[in-house]
Amino acid sequence: MNQIDPPTAPSKILVVDDVPENLRLLSTTLTKQGYKVRRAKNGSMALMGAKNDLPDLILLDINMPDLSGYEVCEQLKANAATRSIPIIFLSAQDDLEDKIKAFNLGGADFIGKPFQVEEVLARVRNQLALQAAYAEIKTLNQELEARVQKRTAQIEAANQVLKQEILQRHRLEQKLRHDALHDSLTGLPNRSLFMERTKKCLTHTINNPDQQFAILFIDLDRFKIINDSLGHLTGDQLLVACAKRLNCCVAAPNTLARLGGDEFTILLEQISNPHDAIVVAEAILEKFAIPFEISNRSLMITASIGIVIGTDQYHQEINLLRDADTALYKAKELGKARYEIFNQQMYVQAMHRLELENELREGISQWQLVLYYQPLISLHNGKLSGFEALVRWQHPRRGFISPGEFIPLAEETGLIIALGKWVMYEACTQLKIWQNKLPEANSLTMSINVTGDELRHPDFLSSIDYIIAQTEVNSHCLKLEMTESMLIENSEQIIAVLEAIKNRNIQLSIDDFGTGYSSLSYLPQFPVDNLKIDRSFVNAMNINQQNTEIVKTIVTLAKALDMRVIAEGIETKTQLQSLQALGVEFGQGFLFSKPLTSELAEKFLLQSVS
Ligand code: C2E
Ligand code: MG
Ligand code: MG
Repeated sequence: MNQIDPPTAPSKILVVDDVPENLRLLSTTLTKQGYKVRRAKNGSMALMGAKNDLPDLILLDINMPDLSGYEVCEQLKANAATRSIPIIFLSAQDDLEDKIKAFNLGGADFIGKPFQVEEVLARVRNQLALQAAYAEIKTLNQELEARVQKRTAQIEAANQVLKQEILQRHRLEQKLRHDALHDSLTGLPNRSLFMERTKKCLTHTINNPDQQFAILFIDLDRFKIINDSLGHLTGDQLLVACAKRLNCCVAAPNTLARLGGDEFTILLEQISNPHDAIVVAEAILEKFAIPFEISNRSLMITASIGIVIGTDQYHQEINLLRDADTALYKAKELGKARYEIFNQQMYVQAMHRLELENELREGISQWQLVLYYQPLISLHNGKLSGFEALVRWQHPRRGFISPGEFIPLAEETGLIIALGKWVMYEACTQLKIWQNKLPEANSLTMSINVTGDELRHPDFLSSIDYIIAQTEVNSHCLKLEMTESMLIENSEQIIAVLEAIKNRNIQLSIDDFGTGYSSLSYLPQFPVDNLKIDRSFVNAMNINQQNTEIVKTIVTLAKALDMRVIAEGIETKTQLQSLQALGVEFGQGFLFSKPLTSELAEKFLLQSVS
């Protein structure tokens, strides 16, 4: 089947000629061909006609009386609305120059007069076909352009999305990198970043040996107590506040980092001498002299600082941190809230401590620990009332090591838990042996020293129960001695443990009373039975009256709180008499006996009941 083209509107042709016959002939011929023809007999009418109703083609005579065809053409081409109408010039002047002028003015074609109708028709058809082709190309171009624009917009949109994604990914990457190198609580650089920067510094110093740097290792004193007693939230707030204060003492390019827990480090990238590091350390100590206001509470916390100077003697950054840590340990040992600069002697001591720690581990498992027993005497009648178990370490090479040396080490390393259990088991077993041998020893008491770490340990109560059950010792014969510092914590956890101890009929004593520098207001809250006056007060009693007054005050306080007083370290008769005069109930000291081996203690016991 033939395809039928949709009916199209007839092309409009404007014929312009001042010769009426030409005008008629052309218009009738063209009309017959189906064109819609309008006529204009001069230039001005042609211009008007073309503007009023745009024709598809103009047949334009050149020689006309008013405006020549050239002028009409010029004006039509100057007007944007009529510029693209194809113009076929008709002229009797058929020389080459006229044609060139006609084409230069924008004419589409040129027909010489007299014309052949067929030629005019053929040229008109050509021009219209050309025009239609142009129009189609234009439409196609426009469509293409529109499609290109649409596609471009789509690509741009996709590009935008892609850019956004890249940006997000970049941000995420940056965040991940930041998180990997920073502490989430304080936002400070973490250990990795700190070590990275320290390494750079060390490399620089190795290449330029006259340029030194320093590391300050800062540890908050007794932070664990605050954290345990006031809760982790307050602990965290305190850490953030400490980080802020430390930050005030550190300026770029130096680095303040949080190593973890309550440990911070500072890298001072360039110092001219160790004094520069000391200045920073002193500034920090000063900052910590002011209490922190946290959750409506005023908290006092100090910091200890270990300093190491980075020189080309070091080859590995980790050794710098190790030595700063050793200096920090020294600062703690010397009383906390101070700084110490690392020296080689500290290293030797640290190695010794490390050795001792390993040996203590061995010592506990190889039964190198022994208990000594110091008699506790009633000052009213001079009779033996009980013993205090005091641990000693019989080292196979070093000989006798006093608890003052290894108990702190055991606390630091956590070995105190195993050690404490052993002491309790051993002391209870010994007491039971004596009580089984002698009916008079039935009311004999055994005092056992316990540390805060032991009390806070979740297994503490169950291990007491186990030991009492195993040794069949009477619980009311047991006295647990703890230091004042444990009570300062005032935590609910500690109070609950102490109550549970009391519920088992075990007595509680505060050891070394008076040395804790703590407020007395905490005392009534704790179910304590005995106060053991520290031997420094007893010792000083005869030196001046003031010390006697202190002891007197402690006795009065104990009476008011319904507690018994035990005096430690009685060495002379005068001391004994003064204490008796003050009404102190019990006493311990070299005057009566030094701590004794179990055999000698048994002898002492036998003598005292005979
Ligand atoms: P502490 O509980 O206050 O024990 C009294 C200390 O004073 C003992 O020292 C004892 O030998 C000494 N001492 C007693 N009478 C006198 C005296 O008249 N003059 C002088 N100058 N000293 C006297 P030791 O045995 O060296 O114990 C030191 C500290 O080690 C103890 O002080 C106690 O806090 C701790 N300790 C001892 N054994 C243990 C234990 O088994 N567990 C725990 N956690 N700590 C223990
Ligand atoms: Mg004691
Ligand atoms: Mg004591």
